Amino acid sequence: MIHEHSTCSRTTAMVASELYYWHDTLNWCGFFEPSLTCQPREHFENPETKRRLQNLLQASGLWEHLSLIKPHPAEDAVIQMVHPAAHIAHLTSVCASGGGETGQLTPAGPASLDIARLAVGGVVAAVDAVIGGKADNAYVLCRPPGHHALPEMAMGFCLLANAAVGIRHAQRTHGIRRIATIDWDVHHGNGTEAIFLEDPEVLTISLHQDNLFPPASGGIGVRGAEGRNLNIPLPPGSGSGAYREAFDKVVLPALEAFAPDMIFILSGYDASAMDPLGVMMLSSEDFRWMTQQVMQFADLQCAGRIVVTHEGGYSATYVPYCGHAVIEALSGASAQLTDPFDAHIANYGGQALSHDQGAAVERARAAYFD
Ligand SMILES: [Zn+2]
Repeated sequence: MIHEHSTCSRTTAMVASELYYWHDTLNWCGFFEPSLTCQPREHFENPETKRRLQNLLQASGLWEHLSLIKPHPAEDAVIQMVHPAAHIAHLTSVCASGGGETGQLTPAGPASLDIARLAVGGVVAAVDAVIGGKADNAYVLCRPPGHHALPEMAMGFCLLANAAVGIRHAQRTHGIRRIATIDWDVHHGNGTEAIFLEDPEVLTISLHQDNLFPPASGGIGVRGAEGRNLNIPLPPGSGSGAYREAFDKVVLPALEAFAPDMIFILSGYDASAMDPLGVMMLSSEDFRWMTQQVMQFADLQCAGRIVVTHEGGYSATYVPYCGHAVIEALSGASAQLTDPFDAHIANYGGQALSHDQGAAVERARAAYFD
């Protein structure tokens, strides 16, 4: 049973495709290639987390409340707004040879480039829907993810920089100038940072676990053109209190100072308390709260225009609840779904802001504003 709140219900576009779940990350051991010391098993970035999010949306009824969009594959000219032709040629060649490592820690199967084109095309379609007024905001439930992909190299399970291409499309096709990105995946959004580092019209914000992945990436000293790159590395173990402090003291003030015309959220769920690749402590309610904070700002600043791309998150059990909370917030509807883990996680020790976490947020604030 879906309850609509008449004052805040909105049209949320959902970009989804069965083919997103067919991107093959091979029989890798977590994220390492199998060897005599590494027994093969499924890769962490496998379809289950995202397929189960779609399943939960369907079970709760929220799915029918969304405006479904079928993505089309992005052509070379679109991808080349970010990636050189040589990168596409390299991915083409690895996939044509049956698949394998495409860059750094990024396995792919024979159809993976075609599916990555569909992920980019999905973000492009989301941008068109939001700017064209067919939707108030949009969620792209795509695989493979995109935020680690560099222009010339696949990295960290990401083949193409999905959100970055969508941003270029918004700028060049729709004339949207100032765009802000907020990346709360537990890993640093290094690809997005690299692509826009010299572009003062794109503010890139990344909240991440300090020095997790890529190694030695995501420090507070990287500022870019006119200082429009903001890294907020948080200590391992950060939870609700630390993320709320970061939003209140740094993320929201930075958004206000920048005054974007549109916002992209690169939403990974690997900062959840259940994730095997991070050691942060967020619950689905924290993801809901962060989404609502961005929405409140976007309503005042840029007509609520938000596109969310699904990035990492590797707990097939818990990602669905976190993603459901984000999409429910975006839609303004209430699906009456109870997250059974939420109260459990809220009671974990260390959810309140610690001295070290507060100091880390203050360092990021001072580096950006002072
Ligand atoms: Zn991640």
